[in-house]
Amino acid sequence: MIIIMLGAQGTGKGTVAGILSQKTGWPQISTGDIFRKNISEGTELGIEANKYIANGNLVPDEITVPMVKARLEEDDAKDGAILDGFPRTKEQAEKLDSMLAEMGRKVDLVINLITPREEVITRILNRRVCSNQQCKATYNLTMHPPKVEGICDKCGAKLVQREDDSNEESIKTRLNIYDEKTKPLVDFYQAKGVVTTQEVSERINRLGQDVAEDVLKMLKNN
Ligand code: ADP
Ligand code: ZN
Repeated sequence: MIIIMLGAQGTGKGTVAGILSQKTGWPQISTGDIFRKNISEGTELGIEANKYIANGNLVPDEITVPMVKARLEEDDAKDGAILDGFPRTKEQAEKLDSMLAEMGRKVDLVINLITPREEVITRILNRRVCSNQQCKATYNLTMHPPKVEGICDKCGAKLVQREDDSNEESIKTRLNIYDEKTKPLVDFYQAKGVVTTQEVSERINRLGQDVAEDVLKMLKNN
């Protein structure tokens, strides 16, 4: 089972993917997390990728695509995987299709999360992440604050703001790239009949957790 999370920044892709991964045992493959881990470890891939990430631009496919392929070929992904942050362009979606075809697999489900733009910007600005790379828990200063300010509930490590989240220019760049390059993927996958669109929004009091529960029900009924 290959599941793809689509949706703009701050819609809750990571939250939904994390819950689905926990309940199904399929790994959450977040390209952003893999890049950040490499950056913090100072690997060659991390140094190269950070030239793009710091400004909110996309990392070139020559780096991103082989990284995803290698991750999908790992043993823990043989029954399923939840892709969070990949593909982000039509080119990446086509490359994913051909790498999956080679493996005798395909995209089974695309979860398209939608949230009003004003809500998304506030959420990104209020987002804090655990600095412990093994934990990576995500908080929101207003909607889901930690019990102790600045400290992760789960592991006690310090919470930090992602560099690209503290910079309004980078947030704008990322949302523009989403609209221009990633949003068309909804149609690309809709044509294959694999999309479920789900609103995550305070205005209808529906959080990522609610979407995850509904998707789990859908998976069970299939
Ligand atoms: P966000 O969705 O908030 O931008 P991510 O953690 O998904 O955060 O990604 C952080 C950054 O990593 C992106 O801004 C981009 O520079 C890079 N990145 C992540 N996934 C991809 C991808 N599929 N293709 C190219 N660059 C990517
Ligand atoms: Zn933590």
